Amino acid sequence: MTIIRDNIDAKVMADLIELGRVIEIFPGEKIHTGKVTQGQWLLPIKGRLRLSFGDEESQEILDSDINATFPVLELPTGDTVAPGYQLTALERGQVLILPLAAFSEIVQKTPEVFNIMVQDLITRLKEADEKNWVYRRKENLYARLLTEEKQNKHVELAGNHQKIRQYRKLISQLAPLRQPLYLVGEKGTGKELLAWLIHRDNDDNIRPFITVECGDMLDDELGERIFGGIGGFIQGLGLNRFGYLELAAGGTLILKDFDLLSPLVLIRLAAYMEDNLLDVRIMIISREPAEPSNWADLLNTDEFTRLLANSLMLPSLRDRMRDIPLLCSSLLRKLTKKHQYPLPTITKEAQEKLLNYKYTQSNVAELEEILERALVLADGGEINAEHIFTGVILENPGIALDVLQFPSVNRLIKNRIYPRIPQVAASCGLWIFILVASATQGGIVGTLVLGAVWSIGWPALLFSSALAGRFTCSICPFAGTADMVQKRFSFNRPVPRLLKQYDYIIMSLLFSLIFWVEEVSRIRESPPATGLLLLVITLGAVLAALYYPRHTWCRHICPLGGMVSVCSMVAPLELRSKAEICRHKCTTFDCYKGSKGVAGCPLFQHLSFVDNNVACKLCMNCVINCPHSSIMLNIRPPAREIWLTRHVNRGMAIFVLIFGAQLIPVLLYDKYQFIHNSIATFSIIFWAIVFGTGFAGWWAIRSLLTEEEAMPRIRLVLCLIPLVLAAHFAYQLQFLPMLPSLLLYLHHLMNGVVESQLVLISLLSFLRILVLSAGFIGTLICIGASRRALTATEKKYSVLTFAGAVSYLLTISILLFR
Ligand code: SF4
Ligand code: SF4
Repeated sequence: MTIIRDNIDAKVMADLIELGRVIEIFPGEKIHTGKVTQGQWLLPIKGRLRLSFGDEESQEILDSDINATFPVLELPTGDTVAPGYQLTALERGQVLILPLAAFSEIVQKTPEVFNIMVQDLITRLKEADEKNWVYRRKENLYARLLTEEKQNKHVELAGNHQKIRQYRKLISQLAPLRQPLYLVGEKGTGKELLAWLIHRDNDDNIRPFITVECGDMLDDELGERIFGGIGGFIQGLGLNRFGYLELAAGGTLILKDFDLLSPLVLIRLAAYMEDNLLDVRIMIISREPAEPSNWADLLNTDEFTRLLANSLMLPSLRDRMRDIPLLCSSLLRKLTKKHQYPLPTITKEAQEKLLNYKYTQSNVAELEEILERALVLADGGEINAEHIFTGVILENPGIALDVLQFPSVNRLIKNRIYPRIPQVAASCGLWIFILVASATQGGIVGTLVLGAVWSIGWPALLFSSALAGRFTCSICPFAGTADMVQKRFSFNRPVPRLLKQYDYIIMSLLFSLIFWVEEVSRIRESPPATGLLLLVITLGAVLAALYYPRHTWCRHICPLGGMVSVCSMVAPLELRSKAEICRHKCTTFDCYKGSKGVAGCPLFQHLSFVDNNVACKLCMNCVINCPHSSIMLNIRPPAREIWLTRHVNRGMAIFVLIFGAQLIPVLLYDKYQFIHNSIATFSIIFWAIVFGTGFAGWWAIRSLLTEEEAMPRIRLVLCLIPLVLAAHFAYQLQFLPMLPSLLLYLHHLMNGVVESQLVLISLLSFLRILVLSAGFIGTLICIGASRRALTATEKKYSVLTFAGAVSYLLTISILLFR
């Protein structure tokens, strides 16, 4: 064997080899106790070894040169080289393993080797010490960085609540005491802020302020991350991994969610606090008050009794809602500094929105998040209600296929082929259509006009929305015309509050008006009247665009938009964002504001809060604007959002009820001659049903004060959508133009055996039964899925919804099949 070591004589090395054994090592190979046992010495004689200690992320690397010697330590486990460090071969080589028994012989026979070994050990220790120092310095700098970050993060304890005033006074009294403190309060109530203010008040700006999330240390049963690693590089020589206590020396250590620490760590902490050698002020933070009975056995020490005695309980934001204006000013001062915006004003409506929200997720921290988002969305301008987004962000609702991952779909959208080209075509078509309709009274052109609007357009609107969401809104000729006008001029006045508050009620009344006019004016038979109706809707959209910003017409007024929105909730297509990315990566919110020459969301939506199709008209602006590719265009289980949505407008439920109910007077009008013959009778019945249903819905939902309380009931009403939609489909089937052709074809096939009228009736009835059954099953599925998230009391309402669905199905069936 060739001896490569140059600091040991070849003959001596040959002697040594006789005393031990040589093993071959290969690159990447780790040296385990299978090859080396406790108390042995390793001498690399060829190749290089890497000695590392610490965990994977913070490895200290000590590459050996060929002359190094590694002692293998006495270890309790015996199954690895040593806990905390390991030896890895960097290249192919050989290692001589000398057993403990050979050691005395080495001293006697080859004292020069012994000297080399000791010398080598000292060199290694020096090296390790230096590296240790660098490591320590790095950690200290890191601790400093964390402290500076806190300085910018925390500003003041704002508010007038009695406890907050009391704690503000206490800060200066508690600061110099350096006693441990116990801070209790819900998430985001300001426990860490209070801890920081106490730390800072003791002129501790420059001393470490370290916060530790105890939830991240569940696997650390011994508390090595707090107290430092045991063992370490060379046992007993202080070359341990540093613990947070050491990093916080002279300063403050915050242990967040302290109750999650293992019992052993708690005992070690209590023992440590007996003499507190490193002069660390410990503050423990917990969301729930500690249960003394749980702690008594473990923490029956004076220190812990003292720790629990010095407790401060921070109130939730719900308990100090009056502090919200003060908190807003304080937080906005801090946030404007961070984002370099001027201090904005907040409109009264926005303030009300902030005051009416309950902040159950994270109190003041949640308020701060909402304000920061609003500040960026308002782009330094006045913050209005449109900029305030509250509530839970839904993450990963379940199975879905994102079609934006297909390059062809992506190209179609990014090149603006969709929706621009179909929308321009539709807008031009609309005006030609209005002109032709007004100029014709009947004949083939008149029939074509009426057929296109009433027999194709109207049912197609229902079908396409149920299949592809508000896709028709994105190519809508009314909005397209309004867009063209708005691009040239708009007053951009704020949308009136009443309009925003009662939009779906206004929409349902306008929609009922169209339905009523349709029946009493025979508009279905008159091309000029049909043209006039289209013109009125177009003018409405244009006027709204001239006066108000973005698509106010689509969002708050358009009756067709209301109907399409209702249908879109059952569609198997949805546009959503990846909540994780929006929340943690995005700081610009371009989906809302717009960029790159593409307008922002026309419906004023911040994508991460969109959890239903009503809020999205599939214009695809956000797909182009989002800098993080966070948007997904999903194929999903139909109607899923009905039982998942948390952000739907509560007026939507009233629209659904009226939309369903108004079909009843229309069917009565068709079936009963005395109603058909009297406009007054029909009108009374029609409006009585519309208003009666509207008020009942209003009473059931509007009477509840908060969104959280109203949401389960709203969702239960939304469960009726599949059935209501099916009822409208079933009614519209009789107007489909292809039905007579189909009938003729069937008649031809049967060679006239069956009366054509009979075929028509049975085919129509069959389709109606099919559609109604599908709708009813859809409603049952929605009720079942919604029930999972309901409380016991709310479950009672689901029985009411079921009863309502059965009665509605029976009523519509009787009227349709009579
Ligand atoms: S969708 Fe894109 S732009 Fe909008 S919030 Fe999410 S990441 Fe930001
Ligand atoms: S969410 Fe996106 S696709 Fe939907 S309306 Fe807003 S910008 Fe258009």
